[in-house]
Amino acid sequence: ATPTALLVGTGRGAQLGILIKGPEVLESTRKVDTVVLDKTGTVTTGRMTLLAVHTAEGTEEAEVLRLAGALEHASEHPVARAVARGALEKLGSLPAPGDFANVPGLGVQGVVDGHAVLAGRERLLADWAMELPAELGLAKEEAEAAGRTAVVVAWDGQARAVLEIADAVKETSAEAITRLRALGLTPILLTGDNRAVAESVAREVGVAPGDVIAEVLPEDKVDVVKRLQREGRSVAMVGDGVNDAAALAQADLGLAMGTGTDAAIEAGDLTLVRGDLRTAADAVRLARRTLGTIR
Ligand code: ADP
Ligand code: MG
Repeated sequence: ATPTALLVGTGRGAQLGILIKGPEVLESTRKVDTVVLDKTGTVTTGRMTLLAVHTAEGTEEAEVLRLAGALEHASEHPVARAVARGALEKLGSLPAPGDFANVPGLGVQGVVDGHAVLAGRERLLADWAMELPAELGLAKEEAEAAGRTAVVVAWDGQARAVLEIADAVKETSAEAITRLRALGLTPILLTGDNRAVAESVAREVGVAPGDVIAEVLPEDKVDVVKRLQREGRSVAMVGDGVNDAAALAQADLGLAMGTGTDAAIEAGDLTLVRGDLRTAADAVRLARRTLGTIR
């Protein structure tokens, strides 16, 4: 394509809500055959809410909310925000945690009211030599089967509650995936969340169950992209989070949600300004048209 055509393509992109870092990006956009989609904040809204608190026998809901809420208040993760907001609504205020630590892709830990508290994925329990009691295990399974994220809360050596967190699939996601398929791209759903939750979202938006990659730690997302590239695929990655930045940079084409973090936007080759996944398909069509492979 002529430099003029590339400039026109870039300008047209801006009109569609697609910010392209440089004209050369159109070439990689044209060639992609696989599109890896981050789940939380990309396919879903990422505006989560606390739906229910399941407590172990002898544990008070208010104490669970106070201890877990205090910790999560110190984290910016969408799951954490839902817990803190839910706790604040019920309790009005929360204590400040000590020794706070964020465990990326797993949860948070710290000291609240003299208790050593953790909140996050069940996997965290094993590090502290704890197990989920059967009653809570059941609550967790049921929540996840319904497509909700389960947060396990433990303190002083015992798992005491499971919090049920709901996210919603964006209205535009299913249509976006249909459009990406129509362009010949294979969609893959990638997430740190539980497999049952991921499969429920995949079903809702039309990603094949075999193309769901779940329970991936933040630092391992980039390896998933590398593996697909070794299989000979040309990979686009769409993401919004700090934990997507390395994968966005590694992908043949990185697409950042404009509604996402600065880290993702900096790592991406182009930005979907409105956070509308349908504009990812627009970008591919635009690139193919600009570079003359379709008319
Ligand atoms: P995603 O890949 O969907 O954007 P992350 O890798 O950030 O998600 O997190 C993966 C999972 O780890 C979340 O779905 C949640 O279960 C758990 N998690 C992460 N951070 C927290 C937190 N602050 N509190 C509770 N759970 C968390
Ligand atoms: Mg995300």
